[in-house]
Amino acid sequence: MSEHGGVPGAGLVKGLAVTLKTMTRRSTTQQYPDVAPELPPRSRGVIALLEENCTVCMLCARECPDWCIYIDSHKEEVAVPGAARPRQRNVLDKFDIDFSLCMYCGICVEVCPFDALYWSPEFEYAEYDIKDLLHDKDHLGEWMATVPPPPAHDPLGDPSKEETTAARKAAGPSARPAPARVRPDAATDPGGGAAS
Ligand code: SF4
Ligand code: SF4
Repeated sequence: MSEHGGVPGAGLVKGLAVTLKTMTRRSTTQQYPDVAPELPPRSRGVIALLEENCTVCMLCARECPDWCIYIDSHKEEVAVPGAARPRQRNVLDKFDIDFSLCMYCGICVEVCPFDALYWSPEFEYAEYDIKDLLHDKDHLGEWMATVPPPPAHDPLGDPSKEETTAARKAAGPSARPAPARVRPDAATDPGGGAAS
């Protein structure tokens, strides 16, 4: 018995067993760049911009924790046939993302209400000069070609909001959801019936 009460040499045998097991296991090392890695399609490689969807709402720039989205725009008047006055719309002049600051949190992609930002799994855009990691709107637009198509809808999942709306419109006004029921005493009780 060893001084700790175990069988002498047990630790050595255990260690050798681990070594042997590791040596005979198939290596998971990937020989990048000779072999391209198989990344999940939704990997966060680079952010792509679909410029025509961007309304310059500035939500992404405001929510970015690293303040690495730079947007500039101007207003343009658009004549609308039949309208008394021309409408105004924002025109995007600049949309840059500095990938030397970006921490790939994905907040900008999530908060964009107009589906103008997407993740692409493309990650091979290292640069010798850090300044070149600032991608302008043309560069961000080029990444759109590498964005994978959206995953197929789960047949067991809930229908999308658009599908529900389209089905309700197709069914006509009789299929509209019933208005929220009002408690009988709420009409006479301005305080909503709360106990005083
Ligand atoms: S992924 Fe995060 S850090 Fe990068 S630009 Fe978007 S919000 Fe900013
Ligand atoms: S949140 Fe979307 S629509 Fe708004 S400025 Fe950013 S990319 Fe454009």
